[in-house]
Amino acid sequence: MGEGIKKLAVDCIPPATLVAVVAFWYYAPAAWVENPWTLLMVSITYTAWVLLLELVFERHAIWRINTREFLTDLFYFVLINTVIAKLVIVLTDEPLHTLKESWGIATPWAMQLPFLAQVALFVFVWEFGQYLMHRLMHDWEPFWLTHAPHHHITQLNAMKGAVGNPLELFLVSIGVVALFDLPLNAVLCGYSFTGVIGTFNHANVRSDPPFFYSFFFTTIRHHSYHHSVGYENTRCNYSNNLILIDRILGTYKEGEGILVGQDERRRLSIWEQFVFPLRPLIKLFEGKKGDGSVAGH
Ligand SMILES: [Zn+2]
Ligand SMILES: [Zn+2]
Repeated sequence: MGEGIKKLAVDCIPPATLVAVVAFWYYAPAAWVENPWTLLMVSITYTAWVLLLELVFERHAIWRINTREFLTDLFYFVLINTVIAKLVIVLTDEPLHTLKESWGIATPWAMQLPFLAQVALFVFVWEFGQYLMHRLMHDWEPFWLTHAPHHHITQLNAMKGAVGNPLELFLVSIGVVALFDLPLNAVLCGYSFTGVIGTFNHANVRSDPPFFYSFFFTTIRHHSYHHSVGYENTRCNYSNNLILIDRILGTYKEGEGILVGQDERRRLSIWEQFVFPLRPLIKLFEGKKGDGSVAGH
């Protein structure tokens, strides 16, 4: 009996964290919302929280974090929150804002919605774009070359969602959500909302959220299945946040992955992750040099 309640409490940690993050942005004073550091502080807080949960409620011993994994993940966490975040603003958000103004696109109705509906709108528009891009990455070789490094991770941990080729990290951040008029706190809440789900669905935490949550939102079970060894097994559960989209579009598969990775689970170094999309070019170049005289890696 006590065990059942304890399990339910652990299973409810992801939904409870999500509620805490939404409440934070709803009640945050304007000065905090306008402070450009607040979003990063929130990201650091929930990431540290999930890393702590990995130590207390471990899911699989073979996913246990070690120094090498932690430092690699931390490198990507910093990269995505600095260089990639800046590139997304300069190369997509700002041009979209300009386009929005010059074409006179306005959605004043979105400003009138209740806060939760605004967050839901943001999350849905953001996630639908991510779903399409992610599916394209699995369907088309040039895009797969950017996404494959993320699938070469051989264990799942809180910051693993940030691990991948920088080009991919940029591509999945492209979206049209900047075309909507939404209050800043709803937009920032939307980013934190997707961040929390993305962190839990890569984390080595024992929580299996109840159906009221896992019907709509992606969990570690759904996403670990997407990370299964063998390329064909990865072709499902594309939604990083709203598994509901996979259920509607017929790409949902029930299951869970424990052994994760690609290419016989060979772990890539950061350098290999960065140059991975150039593989066909490197092979072509090595081929031209003649019969195997060039040392492989
Ligand atoms: Zn994928
Ligand atoms: Zn992933």
